[in-house]
Amino acid sequence: MQTVGHYINGKLVPGSARRLGDVYNPATGKVIRQVSFAETTDANSAINAANEVFPAWRDTSLAKRTQIIFAFREILNARKEELAAIITEEHGKTLADALGEVTRGLEVVEFATGLAGNLKGSYSEQVSTGIDVYSIKQPLGVVGIISPFNFPAMVPMWFFPVAIAAGNTVVLKPSEKDPSAAIWIAERLTEAGLPDGVFNVLQGDKLAVDELLTNPLVKAISFVGSTPIARYVYQTGTAAGKRVQALGGAKNHMLVLPDADLDLVADSAINAGFGSAGERCMAISVVVAVEPIADDLISKISQRMAGLVVGDGRLACDMGPLITREHRDKVASYIDLAETDGAEVVVDGRSVAVEGDSNGFWLGPTLIDNVPTSSKIYRDEIFGPVLSVVRVKSFSEGVELINAADFGNGTAIFTNDGGAARRFQNEIQVGMIGINVPIPVPVSYYSFGGFKSSLFGDTKAHGMQGFHFYTQEKTITSRWLDPSHGGINLGFPQN
Ligand code: NAD
Repeated sequence: MQTVGHYINGKLVPGSARRLGDVYNPATGKVIRQVSFAETTDANSAINAANEVFPAWRDTSLAKRTQIIFAFREILNARKEELAAIITEEHGKTLADALGEVTRGLEVVEFATGLAGNLKGSYSEQVSTGIDVYSIKQPLGVVGIISPFNFPAMVPMWFFPVAIAAGNTVVLKPSEKDPSAAIWIAERLTEAGLPDGVFNVLQGDKLAVDELLTNPLVKAISFVGSTPIARYVYQTGTAAGKRVQALGGAKNHMLVLPDADLDLVADSAINAGFGSAGERCMAISVVVAVEPIADDLISKISQRMAGLVVGDGRLACDMGPLITREHRDKVASYIDLAETDGAEVVVDGRSVAVEGDSNGFWLGPTLIDNVPTSSKIYRDEIFGPVLSVVRVKSFSEGVELINAADFGNGTAIFTNDGGAARRFQNEIQVGMIGINVPIPVPVSYYSFGGFKSSLFGDTKAHGMQGFHFYTQEKTITSRWLDPSHGGINLGFPQN
């Protein structure tokens, strides 16, 4: 059976491969390949390769860096179906959804080709007589990127194009559940002319992550994953003196006001709740319905759910399987809990009819009404195709509910009342807000990130914040002697 290895210094390397993980096709439940888990020696090889090439890459001209990223963009765009097929095989999401993921990543690559404008410093002439002050932005060194299973191509692409554009070198540690997309990307970067060692892939688990977090050659960490691991990564990385941005979990609410178009809301709730089987950090998990519309809305959502086809993402269907059997069972256990806690399971995905292999990790779309906010089903991130409905009496009650939540990644309001929408964007304590847009993922030239337990650190991904995270600023005060200077003056210059 094929073993997915590491990509170090421009080459595929098997690594020590003392520990292996199984990689499944979630639609068949079968192990399709294995992945090599890095030992410390493998991690050091990747980090050392990135560190050795850093001075040369830092000094590579902006023009040359732009050309390489542009060439990568062209290759990725021409061959994106190949990458989508790899994602679908190991993750399970539909091919259309996988292609959408690649396209969103591609947008960040396109943004990174504008590196020259984003790396400009500033210049002030004559701040004092004959003295000029200016600033320059320089890269940090080796950057560690640790990514989750749910976007094996897009999440790495939120970070590495900008990190590389800014003159850093990268060690990417993808999820061990779908490790092949990262290798495909690394090979295409080499084809695009990226020098060996600038982008490396290290497969593995906690051991590889811990090495990235503590090795002094690694200067910055970009992490995306669940909240407990994000908190750990932030604490460990910052304690080791690194710059860290750690994006965590989510539980996103959609507030629906009585004046909203309920057909548009029902379509949006379906798309945002069940796309990618709910395994999206920007999925809508809770519909907060301001009465008296809840019954009407639930009926419209249920009608649409009846038409959803669950199946193998390589075939025509709306929704694929969950990532592992364990995760499928965990999500199903939340539906059991909902019943115990007094909620009403309106549509039950535990016994779904499937277009595909019966051994796949299937769970159908599920709708639960009257979810008590004290229940774990409301409070925990479930990360599956489970949409909860909570009924409230007013706009203010809805806003209070959302603001009381632990997570603050994304949220949306559905209304035709501009004043209510404006008040919502002002009062809500969430990082990314949609107004009649259910999944408000910012475009690449804005920045992606949430509040509270959804982001540890103060800098979001891509956009200007991305360039800010991957650079440090030097400020230079300069004077060139001319005959008008001279003489002794121990005080500050006055003019
Ligand atoms: P995860 O936290 O299990 O894993 C994320 C990464 O951390 C993986 O590379 C994994 O190998 C590594 N890891 C796992 N356990 C570790 C440990 N004990 N110590 C060190 N590293 C460890 O997350 P996941 O299940 O792969 O992904 C789903 C999670 O990611 C969800 O919580 C989702 O909300 C979150 N996510 C968040 C965003 C965002 O932008 N905020 C985006 C995508 C996914």
